[in-house]
Amino acid sequence: MTVQTNVETFLNYVNGEWVASSSNEVTSSLNPANKNEVVGLVQKSTKEDLDQAVAAAKQAQISWRKLSGAARGEYLYKVANILEENLDDIAMTMTKEMGKTFPEAKGETARGVAILRYYAGEGMRKVGDVIPSTDSDALMFTTRVPLGVVGVITPWNFPVAIPIWKMAPALVYGNSVVLKPASETAVTAAKVVDCFAQAGFPEGVVNMVTGSGSVIGQGIIDHRDINGITFTGSDQVGKQVGLGAVARGAKYQLEMGGKNPVIVAADADLDLAVEATISGGLRSTGQKCTATSRVIVQQEVYDEFKEKLLAKVKEIKVGDGLDGETWMGPCASESQLNTVLSYVEKGREEGATLLFGGERHKELGLENGFYVQPTVFENVSSQMSIAQEEIFGPVLALMKVNSIEEALEVANDVEFGLSASIFTTNISNMLSFIKDMDAGLVRINAESAGVELQAPFGGMKQSSSHSREQGQAAIEFFTAIKTVFVKG
Ligand code: NAP
Ligand code: MG
Repeated sequence: MTVQTNVETFLNYVNGEWVASSSNEVTSSLNPANKNEVVGLVQKSTKEDLDQAVAAAKQAQISWRKLSGAARGEYLYKVANILEENLDDIAMTMTKEMGKTFPEAKGETARGVAILRYYAGEGMRKVGDVIPSTDSDALMFTTRVPLGVVGVITPWNFPVAIPIWKMAPALVYGNSVVLKPASETAVTAAKVVDCFAQAGFPEGVVNMVTGSGSVIGQGIIDHRDINGITFTGSDQVGKQVGLGAVARGAKYQLEMGGKNPVIVAADADLDLAVEATISGGLRSTGQKCTATSRVIVQQEVYDEFKEKLLAKVKEIKVGDGLDGETWMGPCASESQLNTVLSYVEKGREEGATLLFGGERHKELGLENGFYVQPTVFENVSSQMSIAQEEIFGPVLALMKVNSIEEALEVANDVEFGLSASIFTTNISNMLSFIKDMDAGLVRINAESAGVELQAPFGGMKQSSSHSREQGQAAIEFFTAIKTVFVKG
């Protein structure tokens, strides 16, 4: 192990300044491709640090909300340009900090730029409706007002796109923001927030406090001056956020896990289905909330699909995401790797057949990283853990069915309902899938893990708080409707 020199320390951003935590403590953010490499040191913040950020945000919001939407949007255009100028550096930091490949990290950062531009324009779009009053002398209409201070709690798997898709609409609609990013990717978050800092927002409008979920995350849940909380992450934490917010009457929005199916019908284009299953299931090492994890195949084409899939999975090159040859990087952390390995074990114990993978990679060059092989199980039945619980790793469970009706039944037989795909050339299969699949995002002849920033995003069942993010849907969470009645 070589001793690293010059490891950079990243500060909190509070009231327009970069400041150290009152704890005087930092934590190391590690590279999952090589656990001996520290990507940066981040603040281990305290409740007092959070209080300062919230106080700054509360004060700043008073003037921020008075600006026109267009003026607020101008700041977002600036952030977009700065992010674009720093795209390679931020993407490289993301790859080093959470392991996704550099091309994927660049794609995500470019998406961040596009989201900022989309919401910058949102400052000039309509915010209400005129509703005919029964009083013919009156004018009645709705308008939208910001919530106030918004707490943003984000996961590590999209460390650029998720903070941006929450912060950009929050800001353009007149809220101020306190971001608590995932500890796993706090360096990437600091670099994103630096783009906001460089854009010259009035002090206190944008704040970031890093630190543990139990202190800073919980602090956001409990803080009486935080008016809205937007959360993306796990099921368990999400429910805590929701309960805490209800208890003190704050608005909340939760985007949580998935157990996303792909259905392969007997009439599907199998090559396309194989490509999309691999891309949807294994890119980003399966660590997308929309990743495919259950592959439900009609028995007529099961064997052919399986052979084609396995042939491709065996070719996947696992390695450091910065290596141009790599298709799949490591798991984002040791605990994530252990979760994947424990589900492989459970799969075996519960009677599924491991067709490929399931082992940690320990070859020379990979021994210090959290690498796991892409993994495929078959003979998976619906009640097994690997068919029910979110693994968040590169594990595909093949399930054989006799009809499209059975495929839909199996697909719906989980607690989650985020995204789902079907591969078919038959219009009635498509129509029943659109109608009967319980998922917030249904995709036909396309992988389950695709999201467009201008369209609403969110899940059904246990996958979300039944709210939606992104596109025009964001206004629903980040503002409140005010009904106005005017009589001259
Ligand atoms: P996580 O453990 O729930 O963490 C998410 C965030 O919550 C992190 O910032 C975390 O901080 C914080 N947190 C942890 N404990 C907390 C507490 N007691 N109170 C308040 N905040 C707390 O999730 P993750 O492991 O980062 O992310 C993976 C999960 O996110 C998966 O389940 C995935 O499906 C889900 N996800 C969903 C979507 C979607 O849009 N539906 C998108 C991406 C990911 P620390 O990092 O400091 O622990
Ligand atoms: Mg890390």
